[in-house]
Amino acid sequence: MSKINIAIDGLSGCGKSSTAKAVAKALHYKFIDTGAMYRAVTLYFIQNDIDLTNHDQVMQALSEIQIDFEFNQKSQKNETILNQQNVEEEIRKMDVSQKVSPVSAIKEVRVAMVAQQQEMGKYRGVVMDGRDIGSVVFPDAELKVFMTASTEIRAKRRKEELAAKGEIVDLKDIIENLESRDHQDSTRAESPLIKVEDAIEIDTSDLKFENQVQKVLDLAISHLEKED
Ligand code: C5P
Repeated sequence: MSKINIAIDGLSGCGKSSTAKAVAKALHYKFIDTGAMYRAVTLYFIQNDIDLTNHDQVMQALSEIQIDFEFNQKSQKNETILNQQNVEEEIRKMDVSQKVSPVSAIKEVRVAMVAQQQEMGKYRGVVMDGRDIGSVVFPDAELKVFMTASTEIRAKRRKEELAAKGEIVDLKDIIENLESRDHQDSTRAESPLIKVEDAIEIDTSDLKFENQVQKVLDLAISHLEKED
């Protein structure tokens, strides 16, 4: 059976990554969380005090950054590796969430990440989630999904996720962060978050996780049947 690429874009915190991961598992495809890549770059910029307005510093930092994913058997998760160090936990913390949007708005950062993402998906068989996958990274993806959910629901889910990892954050702060990232991501000059014409929108506000996964899987299977 031929393989397709599946692009899942959408608002912050509406379950894109967990859906993409489950869809990839069911189809035996590769899952790539591009948000994790921008988060890893942001962590490096924070750790090395990079001035976002200094082009030379940004370019030098990008040349020093190597991002990989490693499958952890124990957690059954793809974890993010920044320069040989597992940073999976650190990149999910609020301080990274608060700084990631300005970092990912920098053109040079996007050029570097998009090149790696296109390389990862060149043989198809990839489920990739992010903000610009259907528009910039794989405009030729066979299936494009645009996910949304109400801000309250997204914030509640995110609060639970953070609490499960021991980070207690006020709902108000999470709502502020989600809204501010949505705004920055949708209004930036470089590859803003948009719903492309051929994307299928799924509002996950009232959907159980299994149902949102099933919806994407059904769409993928109907594409695969058409192709064969
Ligand atoms: O997906 P996640 O919420 O982890 O992404 C973190 C941030 O990375 C987003 O708010 C956005 O600024 C940036 N991002 C991006 N393009 C992508 C994926 C993420 O600009 N393809």
